[in-house]
Amino acid sequence: MRKLAMVDLIGQYEKIKPEIDKAILDVLASAAFINGPEVKSFQAELEKYLGVKHVIPCANGTDALQIAMMALGLQPGDEVITASFTYVATAEVIALLKLKPVLVDVIPGTFTIDPVAFEKAITSKTKAVVPVHLFCQCAQMDKIMDIAKQHNLFVIEDAAQAIGADYVMPNGASVKAGTIGTIGSTSFFPSKNLGCYGDGGAIFTNDDDLAKKMRMIANHGQSVQYYHDEIGVNSRLDSIQAAILRIKLRHLDAYAAARNSVASYYDKAFANHPKVTIPARETNSTHVFHQYTLVLNGCDRVAMREFLAAKGIPSMIYYPVPLHFQKAYTDPRYKAGDFPVTEHLCANVISLPIHTEMTPADLEFIVSGVLEFINK
Ligand SMILES: *Cc1c(COP(=O)(O)O)cnc(C)c1O
Repeated sequence: MRKLAMVDLIGQYEKIKPEIDKAILDVLASAAFINGPEVKSFQAELEKYLGVKHVIPCANGTDALQIAMMALGLQPGDEVITASFTYVATAEVIALLKLKPVLVDVIPGTFTIDPVAFEKAITSKTKAVVPVHLFCQCAQMDKIMDIAKQHNLFVIEDAAQAIGADYVMPNGASVKAGTIGTIGSTSFFPSKNLGCYGDGGAIFTNDDDLAKKMRMIANHGQSVQYYHDEIGVNSRLDSIQAAILRIKLRHLDAYAAARNSVASYYDKAFANHPKVTIPARETNSTHVFHQYTLVLNGCDRVAMREFLAAKGIPSMIYYPVPLHFQKAYTDPRYKAGDFPVTEHLCANVISLPIHTEMTPADLEFIVSGVLEFINK
């Protein structure tokens, strides 16, 4: 059997190789490496796919969050609420801009920010909330938007893992992850659901003024060359990555379907097993399974990973350390036990391989390995 991987980017590339190779060669021949026509076409195609007025391509998902926060005019000391169970980038940019990250716990089954905890954490200094659509399922955006509106807060959706997920709003409208809040951000890191072959990211908004400002900030704060109205950054998506993304965007829904069939297979295999809990589904969101994550119940995770690795089955821990236990983010406000759900998840989650190229034989083999361990 071929080697199993958490994500199979080579297998995926092989299926679209002629299209991709031609697109890259075309960019090489045009030498329009920066801000070329491919970037503008990708931007327009992604706007259409997401049903959003403005897409601002940038260099990566972390920059996307940073540019969003810069554009909102947040001041040092302003409080920004986010989930304690997330990838570090979310909190990193808040801290980098000298804003104050305020952490709140997540919902046990879906791993997304708990709206009740969010509301409790609001103070007179709170200016924004960053819900993270973790593992490719939306946070409870209806509730989050209501609370944010009542308290006059900006909502920045970290949709780095959630591109393509749909959310049904209370009025019945189905909208794409990242287009609900004031601003949404995403990442095109190679292993993300829409990944390029290097770094890339984008910001989304329906607000014309914010879009204009974010475009300026991403481009050294200039709208006219050499006239700098804002302090900005240099954050660009290059044309080769845009050309690759244009092709992969056409496959994104098929990729999502492939990921969902893997998730259904795992669900069936592990549902109702006393030793594991399968990921819960949010009623108003589709799930596009950036990760398939089980919560273990009384299993030795280290031993399980060793057992699986010995059979050639990879696994990962997203994420092993809660933000408030990270050395760089230790804070006298927080101590062990403050975010019990996050702490429990960090100690007990395990993610299994999930990608667009998995075969029934791969799945059978992985499931039998996991069952062998948890049935011991
Ligand atoms: C990947 C990721 C980011 C950062 O994206 P980069 O492109 O790697 O900078 C931010 N937030 C979350 C939740 C992510 O998963």
